[in-house]
Amino acid sequence: MENCVFCKIINREIPADIVYEDDIMIAFKDIAPQAKVHILLVPKEHIPNNLYLEGRHKSVIGHIILKANEIAKQLGIAETGFRLIVNTGPHSGQEVPHIHWHLLGGEPLGRLIC
Ligand code: C5P
Repeated sequence: MENCVFCKIINREIPADIVYEDDIMIAFKDIAPQAKVHILLVPKEHIPNNLYLEGRHKSVIGHIILKANEIAKQLGIAETGFRLIVNTGPHSGQEVPHIHWHLLGGEPLGRLIC
């Protein structure tokens, strides 16, 4: 999708600190971390937000959520726990209209974050 910052990261048009990538998704460090560890998990397909998910996306969603566990283990935050967040629409504060899961951890988290 033209002008989508996450599509540009996926297409290597702008840089990111990538921690994991496969055919379905990419994971990179958030440029403005809200916790000691803050990773964004992004499907390669441009899906604007949670409301645009369809039945055919079930395998993509499952893949990303399972990879979150692997990435949390890889980064050493699985044991102490982490949070996965998907912002959707204006009231959530969603800034980038390409669905993504925030993976936050590495320290105790407040009740509301991201
Ligand atoms: O859920 P929301 O859309 O608000 O989150 C977007 C996130 O993308 C922000 O945490 C922002 O720091 C991050 N971002 C990034 N790299 C960019 C642009 C935005 O990590 N080039």
